[in-house]
Amino acid sequence: MISLIVHGGAWDIPDDVVKAHCNGVRKALSIGWKVLTSGGTAEEAVERTIMYLEDDPTFDAGRGSFVNAIGEIELDASIMNGTSYRAGAVAAVQNIRHPISLVRLIMNNSEHIFLAGDGAARFAKEHGINQCRSEELLVGRELERWKELQKKKGFLTKDAFHKKGPGDTVGAVALDSYGTIVAGTSTGGTPKKYPGRVGDSPLIGCGTYADSRIGGVSSTGWGESIIRVVLAKTVIDIMENNGNLPHEAALKGIDILHSKVDGLGGVIVLNKDGVPAVAFNTPRMARAYRTSEMNECLVGIEPV
Ligand code: ASP
Repeated sequence: MISLIVHGGAWDIPDDVVKAHCNGVRKALSIGWKVLTSGGTAEEAVERTIMYLEDDPTFDAGRGSFVNAIGEIELDASIMNGTSYRAGAVAAVQNIRHPISLVRLIMNNSEHIFLAGDGAARFAKEHGINQCRSEELLVGRELERWKELQKKKGFLTKDAFHKKGPGDTVGAVALDSYGTIVAGTSTGGTPKKYPGRVGDSPLIGCGTYADSRIGGVSSTGWGESIIRVVLAKTVIDIMENNGNLPHEAALKGIDILHSKVDGLGGVIVLNKDGVPAVAFNTPRMARAYRTSEMNECLVGIEPV
């Protein structure tokens, strides 16, 4: 069995951008699927899938990311290999076109797991990834949003998840033909975030977790709530103890997020056999998945 599941964020995605979200996750999935079916690794599939989403300005990752309170774009990302238990992560890094490639490099070419800010950019440069110009990441839609938000005094991060907004974190979980599960997540964070604010996405166990003996998870949503319940690892722990049932684990994880910290968000999950599941408590969540038992991919955005 090979399997791939992708998400493009859990928010109140407006009607006029539903199509762009569905097309984005479908295309990203097809790229990762090609990698897996031609014998590629889950690491490569997750990287290639997320690279596509980082380039698609529809999503809040790479190009199209939200702008922080002082007009900068700071990116967070992480990846974890569930067989080696190695991981790579960056936070608040600037001017990097593909943070997912950088975290894969850190995972495989560094003794560390997590690099932040200038150090992450320095590591990128040393390994042949040059910083890009800010204009390559900033799109007009986000500049306009930033200007609007500057006028609003009491805007809180959580508000963004209640209000309609087109930007979304991206993530992917893959099971390859060698039995390895890899999960990855990439984001520009939340609109008007305080400079240096780090959400759940780069935190191993919160935004991303993989254990090839149990499964893999990528989370999205209000990071300040996801961190407090260590959402990705919580879902993995539930699955370890519920007979490896991914759907039940995903639902329970979101239930914990809601009931304990009034959280908002969603998770994509693969169990160790590659059975996919999704759960969220926001109005919509863009996602797509395919397994070797399916003839085509399934794309969804509405609640199941
Ligand atoms: N979880 C991300 C953060 O809080 C945002 C998102 O998933 O849309 O940075």
